[in-house]
Amino acid sequence: MKNIKGYTLKELRELFTSMDEKSFRADQIFRWLWVKGAEDFEKMTDISKALRERLKNEFYISSLEPAHVSTSRDGSIKYLFKLEDGETIESVFIPEGKRRTVCVSTQVGCGMGCKFCATGKIGLIRNLSFYEIADQVLSVQKITGERITNVVLMGMGEPFANLDEVLKALRIINKHIGIGARKITVSTAGIVPGIKRFAETPFQYKLAISLNAAIQEKREKIMPVAKAYTINDIMDALDYYYSRKHLRVTFEYVLFKNFNDSEEDAEALGAIASRIPSKINIIPYNQVEGFPYESPDEDDVNRFAEYLYPIAPAVTIRWSRGRDVHAACGQLRGMYT
Ligand code: SF4
Repeated sequence: MKNIKGYTLKELRELFTSMDEKSFRADQIFRWLWVKGAEDFEKMTDISKALRERLKNEFYISSLEPAHVSTSRDGSIKYLFKLEDGETIESVFIPEGKRRTVCVSTQVGCGMGCKFCATGKIGLIRNLSFYEIADQVLSVQKITGERITNVVLMGMGEPFANLDEVLKALRIINKHIGIGARKITVSTAGIVPGIKRFAETPFQYKLAISLNAAIQEKREKIMPVAKAYTINDIMDALDYYYSRKHLRVTFEYVLFKNFNDSEEDAEALGAIASRIPSKINIIPYNQVEGFPYESPDEDDVNRFAEYLYPIAPAVTIRWSRGRDVHAACGQLRGMYT
């Protein structure tokens, strides 16, 4: 038996043609799967009974079931989803005002090895398929009963290390699940060829750079990928991205106490952010057991923001959501597997 969700729309049309079925049937099935979230061929009432029977005999419909759920006091909900091969990934539902955001994973584990991240410690286990990425949005929407408005690719994994599948998933999330392209943000640790390729796609998805240090030597200490792609390389790629997209970039800056929170760090960050239309998200570090980095206290965060305000285009402080339910990336998987 094959998983029918493992076919893109184009592949499904080709498959139906090879099965001597009309190719528009593929569009109908795809709609049932990705717009209506059908989990049973019997629900596909505009498909003939004979075809439904045929599909039932040859295919199954995968779905993501949560193996563990944690609800935070701030309302965010973290899901640990079990995949067909027994691996697990995390997705987080974040309600904020009118926004309903889902943070999705793109890989099982991550090969980037960031020194402050629980997922980095796991290492890369495997890439997710496009349908496993898109299904996180559909499943959270279904479980919560809330219409998802925004999607961020900031969960486990480096999206640009799995870009083919990520782009296929984004097409489904955008076109079929119905999330506007500008409501979808892809966050990268700074994979330069990925930024360039992403710039060349015809879609208006937004880009975030997980920068975390604006001084090259410091960045290399916490993010091994910084040795391969320097801050200068990233800035050149962002110039190219902006020349093609004309979209503001977000710099994510996880703030660690006594590591990247000095005035010198703020000046370097301000200089980077002033080079292209951008905004900065300061994310106070959520301390992870077994890691040497410390969470900043409120005074540290405010002091750093005060340095930045006069020299940076736009600054937001984002206390990471779900701190009381181990929402730092990779933590939940570490506890329940
Ligand atoms: S911070 Fe992101 S890129 Fe770095 S190891 Fe963790 S998941 Fe990977």
